[in-house]
Amino acid sequence: MLVLRNARLIQELTEGYEDRYGDVVVDKGIIQEIRPAKSVSASEDEIIDLTGKTLMPGMIEAHLHLDLEGSNTFEENVQPDAYRTVCCLQRAQDNLRRGYTTVRDLGDRNNITLGLARAIREGRVMGPDVLVSGKILTPTEAGNEFFGDMYEEADSPLEYVKAVRRQYQMGVDWIKIMGTGAVMNPGGTPGNAIIFEEELAAACRTAEYAGLPVAVHCHGSEGVKMCIRNGVRTVEHSSIVDDECIRMYKESGKSFPIPTMSPMTNFVEFPDDKPEHYVRKAKTLLGKIVDGLHAYKEAGIKIGWGTDAGVYVGSHGNGIYEFRARVNMAGFTPLECLIQATKNNAEILMIDDQVGTIACGKRANLAAFSGNPDENIDVLDDVALVVKAGEIVKL
Ligand SMILES: [Zn+2]
Repeated sequence: MLVLRNARLIQELTEGYEDRYGDVVVDKGIIQEIRPAKSVSASEDEIIDLTGKTLMPGMIEAHLHLDLEGSNTFEENVQPDAYRTVCCLQRAQDNLRRGYTTVRDLGDRNNITLGLARAIREGRVMGPDVLVSGKILTPTEAGNEFFGDMYEEADSPLEYVKAVRRQYQMGVDWIKIMGTGAVMNPGGTPGNAIIFEEELAAACRTAEYAGLPVAVHCHGSEGVKMCIRNGVRTVEHSSIVDDECIRMYKESGKSFPIPTMSPMTNFVEFPDDKPEHYVRKAKTLLGKIVDGLHAYKEAGIKIGWGTDAGVYVGSHGNGIYEFRARVNMAGFTPLECLIQATKNNAEILMIDDQVGTIACGKRANLAAFSGNPDENIDVLDDVALVVKAGEIVKL
């Protein structure tokens, strides 16, 4: 048993308990009880005093690439698998020690993250829960070679049927597809759709048969509409949106944007060590992303939270960078951002029966911070404690 004593709780992220302070009792990897502060007795070694600290559900990073460091992508492509596996574990742990207890990987090479997710699930190594998409399915596109084996090209509805089934066979949790051009791909124009609707429709239908949700990389409005029409669960980036996109998101109730501000913000802020095409595309896109976020906020659309970690060196575990951008550039409150990274992401990724809030019966994936992160987002830099499946994380 573990008693997290006298913790400050955020009401919007805590279920079935009204007070501001409480004792959270964890046993067998599960949150068993939330009791009035300082009311639970236990032996000394079972108690962690969280006076002055805020306890939150562990955060969920909905979009990252564990097999990317963010340095030279061509060089990363040719590293030996064993080396990359170790690096992936390290990056997963970088996320965990910062309070991200679940991460979704949206682009694997050689089944490395699939294997890592399994090793973590089996308790062989400590890491966050990893949801994996396997390879990224994409139309043949100039610049795909930049990412080596991370991309699987498919160019007709039938090829998408086959490609989705192949991913399903490998045991993935999600299907990831490229819907529009990408910033990091030297050949892509971010706003332009690259997939035909009949190809996306075939992929989505096949995924539905296999019981797998679909995530689509999509910067432009035509792509966003195509995604919503075809029941895509998460529209990654969803950067350039018009009024019709907003209306369609609102009406759909089953497609959600996962905006990512970090890459563009970083490429613009630190251009010197980046390829020229990263910086050029980021400059045109960043303002549009901010406009999109304003539109989501105004329309009350539920959005998720992701950072696209792996796109620049030092991005894994650096979620504070995304939080700061959302607060300082897009006008969200710290509390709104924390809800996006916990409760919203759990609902959007359909894992809210297990994680996303502090509630009795949910997995004991928790993070405590020294201060009030719901009032001052910079407090997320001061991690006091991370608990994963009831175990204290010591990394
Ligand atoms: Zn990505």
